[in-house]
Amino acid sequence: MHKVTSFNAEIPALGMGTYTINGNRGAQLIAKALGMGYAYLDSAQMYDNEADVGKGVKLSGQPREDVFVLTKVHPENIGKKDFLNSVEESLRKLSLDHVDLLLIHWPNPNVPVVESVGELIKAKERGYTRFIGVSNFNIAQINAALATGAEIVTNQVEFHCLIDQRKVHEFLRGKGISMTAYSPLGQGRLLGHPMLASLAKKYDRSQAQIALRWLVAHDGVIAIPRSSNENRLTENLGIFEFELSEQDMKALGSLSTPSQRFVDWYYSPQWD
Ligand code: NDP
Repeated sequence: MHKVTSFNAEIPALGMGTYTINGNRGAQLIAKALGMGYAYLDSAQMYDNEADVGKGVKLSGQPREDVFVLTKVHPENIGKKDFLNSVEESLRKLSLDHVDLLLIHWPNPNVPVVESVGELIKAKERGYTRFIGVSNFNIAQINAALATGAEIVTNQVEFHCLIDQRKVHEFLRGKGISMTAYSPLGQGRLLGHPMLASLAKKYDRSQAQIALRWLVAHDGVIAIPRSSNENRLTENLGIFEFELSEQDMKALGSLSTPSQRFVDWYYSPQWD
């Protein structure tokens, strides 16, 4: 698996999404995933599973420095009053003294970007995280974040072959920032699309593998699919064993439209 570099951060191009992966079963699955080659876990305060993610890391027996742990600050916690306390609580739950990457989960219309990013910078200065980034930020919001001098290493957004993210991607790459594709399988709803079915047949791969391979073939893109099933976790790791032709990359890219989201906005996107 290749790594995506942004500033000094080296991020595995495929991570494990952990939304709804929780409890003892979740911790065991995470430990197994780390054993099979995953090295990056995507958690969030909102998923209420940081303790289980921390247990999974411990159970796996992997050295701490070999696991890239990410968590995200809940949008209700990104103001000055709650930000750092909430990160301290996340670290307690994770049983870690730092995470590798800390994100603002969603911008909050009631908190100026300069305030929330200022807190993110403080979290890094205190050693709570090695790197910082954002999620669900539009271009104007990223510009506002960068204007504070923050080294933003990623913007995590919904991205898959049905949603057109070319503008944001081009902008981020121009700034040396990676783009992390969440819901890379459209929460499973991408599967069954006739073009994925036909390419799966052509490459003798699963539809999920075609969809994920398409994503990680983009410059600076990281994908974080979730599966609650060991076999499918292994299957999703298999995307580094083959490549799609340029023509098929283009054909899949031509399916996208700007509005094909599967994930609801936490706040209305109109506020900005
Ligand atoms: P995904 O697009 O990853 O899809 C998950 C679904 O796909 C599950 O139902 C899973 O089923 C199925 N699936 C996974 N692999 C396969 C496979 N090989 N074959 C068939 N089905 C498969 O959805 P998510 O929304 O969970 O996105 C991934 C991660 O992104 C989240 O878990 C979270 O970490 C992050 N995220 C971040 C957001 C943000 O605002 N920053 C918003 C949303 C997600 P099964 O479990 O049965 O395998």
